[in-house]
This record gives sequence, C-alpha cells and structure tokens, in this order.
Amino acid sequence: MWGIGLVRKIFIVSIVGVLFFAYLAVVYRHSILVPLTTPGEERPLLENVAVVPGGEPSSDGYYVVVALDAQTFAIAEPRYWARNFNYLILGTERAIMFDAGAGHKDIRPVAEALTDLPITFLPSHFHYDHVGREGAFDHVAVVDLPHIRNQAVGNELTLTWQQHLGSAEGLEIPTLIVDEWITPGDTIDLGGRVLSLLYTPGHSDNSVSLYDADRKVMFSGDFVTGNLAGAIAPTASLGDYLQSAKRVLRLTDAETIIRGAHGSESGNIPTNDHDDVRDLRDTLIAVRDGELEGTGTFPITYVINDKMILVAEPRWLQDWTPTYPDE
Ligand SMILES: [Zn+2]
Repeated sequence: MWGIGLVRKIFIVSIVGVLFFAYLAVVYRHSILVPLTTPGEERPLLENVAVVPGGEPSSDGYYVVVALDAQTFAIAEPRYWARNFNYLILGTERAIMFDAGAGHKDIRPVAEALTDLPITFLPSHFHYDHVGREGAFDHVAVVDLPHIRNQAVGNELTLTWQQHLGSAEGLEIPTLIVDEWITPGDTIDLGGRVLSLLYTPGHSDNSVSLYDADRKVMFSGDFVTGNLAGAIAPTASLGDYLQSAKRVLRLTDAETIIRGAHGSESGNIPTNDHDDVRDLRDTLIAVRDGELEGTGTFPITYVINDKMILVAEPRWLQDWTPTYPDE
C-alpha cells in the first residue's frame, strides 16, 4: 500500500500542475480564444443588408462610397460581417486612406477612382480588419511609437500575431513597408487641410485617430465606433482607454463629430460625439474605482450610455497602467 507521504506528494504535484496550466491558459488566453471563436477563413458576405444612406456602389459592387463632403469619403463594406467604414481624406496635394478593411477585396481602385492625388495609407491600428492587403498602397504611414519603431527592421514592419489577429480569417501576417513615421500629436498637411494624429490606444496599444480641427471631425478607428468601445484584444488596456478618452476630450472641440470604423445593421455611418467620449471616460473611472458592475463573465459588458457599451476583460485581468504614462 502507498504511504500517506506518497499520496500527499501526488496530491501536491497535481495541484501545482493544475495551477500551472491555469496560469498558462490565462497568459495565452487570446491564442486559445481566437481559434475557438473565429472561422479561420474568410466569412461569407452578409445578405439583404441595409442601404448605406447617401451611398453609391463601387464598380466592383462590393464597396459603397459616401461623399461626406467634396474632400471626404467614407468607403463602406456593408456586406462584410464587421461592416467596416474606411475613410479617404483629401487635401489639394495628397490624400490619406485611413484604414483599408480586411483586404479580401482590393480597395485601392475604389480610392483611385475618387482622386488623382497621391494616396498614403495610414491604418488606425494593426488589426487585420484595418490593414488591408499587403502592398496594396505604394506609400504607407505608421504611428511613431518607441515599441513599434523597435519592432521595425529599417522600414520593414512585420506585425506580430497579437497585433494582427488575421488567423481569425485565414490571413497571413503582413509586413508593412513604412515610408513615413508620424509622431503622436504631429500634423499631416494634405494641402489646404491639416490633420492631427492623436494617439488613442485602448482598443489596441497602437491605435490612432485623425482630427480635422477646421471641419471639427475626428476619424476614430475602433477607439469609439458607433455603439462600441472594445477592450478585449491582446494589446487592449483600460488604462490606455482612460488616458485616450481624456486626451480626446482635451484636444478636440466639443462640437466634434466622430466617425468610427465599424457600422451596424442600420447601414448608417458610425457616428459619435464629444459627449460619448465624456461618458466613456466617466464609465472607465467608475469601473476602475469599483463603482460600476458589468454583466457577463468573459467578456464583461459595461453600459456607457443609452447608445454605447464598453466590452472589457473581467476585473482581475484589467490593466490600468497606460502604455506611455503622461508626464
Ligand atoms: Zn476593427
């Protein structure tokens, strides 16, 4: 018969083993969850989608173009499951393509049909549903952050799986050939039109927004987009989100209209305002201080206001330290 000592040893080793695997499961939760919750291949296009108000179909029939004004176009993907809205922003000298969808369909001919200006592609962040297809644009601009610069070899920036997540739809991890590194807070002069690059991490640690102070428009990527602020991706952080909400409130005008990157079943352009960002900030502070309970277990949903929700990890996984703390 086994002695009590041996039984105790087996028990302790088993407990240590279970705890170790639990620890690994937490650390690698995104690597476990993404394959479990995504198809790993291109998803079928949506059928019977709502009309995008004011939209004109592109010649390939996939995209829908909305002229927000003579120099600003939303290029929508109403049949893509994530209902992306990409923005082509024109000056008199050059144009910015802010996001390029997942790249299942080529967006470049659609953009080039709208302008003869040289187009610079600038992703709002590196998730696969924003960086488009590798090499689609000849000129690429990326936010200049120390951790992104360190990752680049010369001007070649090969994304990490955690930054890109493209395995969710069977997409290879791309290498961006960076022509232009833009420092957070710097402006981009398009000729008669100046955009400020705002560093707005939270959804990811490389998220940026573009702010047009003259037109009082901010293009927000996934920072806030319609009904959602999402903080469950691998490099998401609620500390970053709070810092970004405060930054946007400080640097933009109270009249600012915010155009996000994902629409809804309505077909409408995802639109938010300054009050939504204020409510996001107040929600984040309440969550951080333990004054607001969410619903669900993983992820947790917090109500921001009657229009928006914040989707986050449970309290014990929440990260409240900003990637780059303010001075
Ligand atoms: Zn997205």
